[in-house]
Amino acid sequence: MKESKAVCPYCGVGCRITARVEGDAVREVFADKNDLPNRGLLCQKGAFLHKIFHGKERLAHPMLRRNRDGAHERVSWDTALSFVAEKIHSLRKEFGPDAFGFYGSGQLDTEASYLFTKLMKGALGTNHMDTNSRLCMASAATAYAKAFGSDGPPTCYDDIEEADVFFVMGANMAVNHPVLFQRLRARRSSNPATRLIVLDPRLTKTAEAADLHVPLAPGSDVAFLLLLSKKILELGRANADFIASHTTGFSEFKNLLESIDAAAEKKLLAVCGITPGLLARAVFHFEKPAKLLSFYCQGLNQSTHGVDNNLALINLHLMLGQIGRPGSGPFSLTGQPNAMGGREVGYLSHQLPGYRFVENAAHRSEMENLWGLPVGHIHPKPGMSAVPLFESMREGRMKAVWIACTNPVASMPEGEKIKDALRRCELVIAQDCHHPTETTLFADVLLPAAQWGEKIGTMTNSERLVSRSQKLCEPPGEALPDWQIAALAGQALGFSGFSFKDAGEVWDEIRSVTRGRPCDLHGMTNPRLEAGPIQWPCADENGPGKARLYTDFRFPNPDGRARFIATPYRPPAEWAETDHPLLLTTGRVYSQWHTRSRTGKIAELDRLDPEPFIEIHPSDAERYQVEDKAWIRLVGKRGTCAGKARVTENIREGVLFMPFHWGDLFHPETNVNDLTSSATDPFSRQPELKLAAVRVEAM
Ligand code: SF4
Repeated sequence: MKESKAVCPYCGVGCRITARVEGDAVREVFADKNDLPNRGLLCQKGAFLHKIFHGKERLAHPMLRRNRDGAHERVSWDTALSFVAEKIHSLRKEFGPDAFGFYGSGQLDTEASYLFTKLMKGALGTNHMDTNSRLCMASAATAYAKAFGSDGPPTCYDDIEEADVFFVMGANMAVNHPVLFQRLRARRSSNPATRLIVLDPRLTKTAEAADLHVPLAPGSDVAFLLLLSKKILELGRANADFIASHTTGFSEFKNLLESIDAAAEKKLLAVCGITPGLLARAVFHFEKPAKLLSFYCQGLNQSTHGVDNNLALINLHLMLGQIGRPGSGPFSLTGQPNAMGGREVGYLSHQLPGYRFVENAAHRSEMENLWGLPVGHIHPKPGMSAVPLFESMREGRMKAVWIACTNPVASMPEGEKIKDALRRCELVIAQDCHHPTETTLFADVLLPAAQWGEKIGTMTNSERLVSRSQKLCEPPGEALPDWQIAALAGQALGFSGFSFKDAGEVWDEIRSVTRGRPCDLHGMTNPRLEAGPIQWPCADENGPGKARLYTDFRFPNPDGRARFIATPYRPPAEWAETDHPLLLTTGRVYSQWHTRSRTGKIAELDRLDPEPFIEIHPSDAERYQVEDKAWIRLVGKRGTCAGKARVTENIREGVLFMPFHWGDLFHPETNVNDLTSSATDPFSRQPELKLAAVRVEAM
């Protein structure tokens, strides 16, 4: 039996896996205690990865449907890609560059993300390319860039073993980043003086382990962080030396905090739905100097004020000087396995590779030079982000879309609108390893992708650790790695620069376009990555990566300083009212991943949470006559959704929770994103998936 190394394709922890392979069959997977970042640990999703190959409904051959009423027919790769190329060229010729867009995923490896970016923004000269990272990390990335001058988490997982206070906000680590949470638990066991504070409307598994759980009302993150920062400032705990030497904007931030008088404080406490006593208990943990490590995820990001939420937390760290030192810093946990890698190669509609931006003339010129394009070829305006991209299809402006490795019908807000958009599109291309998904059902062209373990690929986890995942077995039929599909598409469209002999050659080009940039990957040669993971920045082929950023307290803003950006509290786009008196928030369960297209096919995982559920507080259950375990329907402003009631005191009164994994292939009425809102943050364009007003009805 042969042993090979791979990287788990689910969450942003990025666990390394050793696979035992016999012939072409992956027999078992396990974690090696010497492997970073997981040091011998795996959660159940990772532990059952060898079963991923047994799933039914694999897409094994290119398929084409020449008219919407007909069935898909098997065709060759040549036929499928020639058809696609001809249609894209003719639609763009007739309707202009807005006629074609791309929607990808944080589950694409870096090689594929890069080649699709090169194809869209370079070869085709359109920035209408976005990915499901827009639903995931866009607010975190925008806030890092605003405050520090560049995207990129400043911290590393080894900070867990150094921290004194863990501050977890908008993240259920025990369920969604389980291996990391095990490291956090181990730190607490070996050092009982460490403290864990969790802010969440639910008493989650993470909150159960905390010294203090603050059950914040949904949408009140900035309100709470302003109150906490004000109290800490009043305690005289601001780090004056750090603020004076390494930051700008503190006086505006201080003025904002000092403008919170007794009446305003009362209002903010009401917004948070907490008592002054609970706030005081949170403040208590900041009274003495301590190394502060904050973890956060979609609870902060998926909001119409997602960037403000992030900035308010960064302000707290800057005020305390808690950044750039071991055991401290604001640490965004990536939801997906390669949302970081995709951003490094510029796959969001406003980005270019190497943390460059399309609006920056110097950045465009650098990329035109690197890609051998004429001056002025890259479009100077950001393309459409996820929500307007699908809206433009619905309005008939965008005529063709290529969707790779994601399931927007189930994961985008207002699912019915996404279906409508795809119906109106003249050409829908879906690249996936499975068919059907809620999205592939709408495709005219189906392109079979190799899945995890069937290809070589590189990914970056939440701590900037870049890992190479090996090919363990052959893909079924004619399925190809995503990067190869992008390369073949580039060739079919008639462009040069898309001929690569293997993934390693693509990686070498990625190294060259990130050279000298904040996310410098140049030093990570193929042989080095084959030997083990490395953290960026890594400029030197013989030098190490960097565990922590900003250890010299120099930030990549032009003046070298980090910026305080004062963020007043602003309410969410939607709130409970007479017809919709409850607030719905969404999230994940331990056993499932995204829209279940993979984990839903693994029996051992599926049986842990076999059906969608809705958590409801006993008082609300009584008020709306909901029985435990009864199926109930939620009615929102945009649609309805059903699930099995779980009456529990683990959720705030007035708030409901439903996981987002079950799309309408499970049941026509179980897509919770039929209820969620397309309202977006004005800076990050991330939609407010975490909050929708609903009412409950019996079924
Ligand atoms: Fe995979 Fe995340 Fe579980 Fe690790 S913690 S095994 S990366 S799902």
